[in-house]
Amino acid sequence: MTAANGTSVSIQNLSLNFGAVSVLQTLNLDVAEGEFIVLLGPSGCGKSTLLNCIAGLLDVSEGRIFIKGKNVTWEEPKDRGIGMVFQSYALYPQMTVEKNLSFGLRVAGTPKDEIAKRIARAAEILQIEPLLQRKPAALSGGQRQRVAIGRALVRDVDVFLFDEPLSNLDAKLRAELRVEIKLLHRKLLNTMIYVTHDQIEAMTLADRIAVMKGGVIQQLDAPQTIYNRPVNRFVAGFLGSPA
Ligand code: ADP
Ligand code: MG
Repeated sequence: MTAANGTSVSIQNLSLNFGAVSVLQTLNLDVAEGEFIVLLGPSGCGKSTLLNCIAGLLDVSEGRIFIKGKNVTWEEPKDRGIGMVFQSYALYPQMTVEKNLSFGLRVAGTPKDEIAKRIARAAEILQIEPLLQRKPAALSGGQRQRVAIGRALVRDVDVFLFDEPLSNLDAKLRAELRVEIKLLHRKLLNTMIYVTHDQIEAMTLADRIAVMKGGVIQQLDAPQTIYNRPVNRFVAGFLGSPA
């Protein structure tokens, strides 16, 4: 993130109710271009709901969402310039890795040579070149997650949204992919909004962490600030800050 950067994602007075239950409450969040934001909080605090609102997979009850200055609150997910990576890899089991990567581009009518170029670049960045002709069943969990990231990568999106992408992996692989995602961000420099309940992931990846509880952002600050100067007991307890 550099000082010259503008706002990438702006969430303004966002509320979301499921029936009578308020899951997000007049939430505000500005994410700078190129920033790595982690949404951190316990299970059920509304992280996925917020991410799904940004992605356009859920309709908001109130408020507005801007991406690169454009009001996308009622835009289709495909028109928002976002790519999403889920905890479950959501790969097409019957397609090879290459076909999984190219599917969205083919649907969008991208020319063949352009598709080939983008796949080659993504495969190189994610080191999945030897896997392109395999099907998902023949991949390890870590390899599948790389392919899932690759699907967002080939679409050349402005904003990456990650929802607990490493939760299904064992500790060693999780640590490895954490480093890879960090390197990917350094390389691409695009905006990333990353949901996790894992404090270590948040501390290592984030430019800023938004700590959430009950559909409200409790604190939004750099990792060191959150750790050393938590605004309340909840944040302190969740981060394991010194008392
Ligand atoms: P997190 O990702 O932080 O674990 P979620 O965003 O998935 O939390 O869920 C936030 C709250 O909204 C939870 O209390 C959950 O039970 C509730 N919730 C999520 N999806 C629905 C739904 N489709 N209908 C009703 N309640 C839901
Ligand atoms: Mg969730």
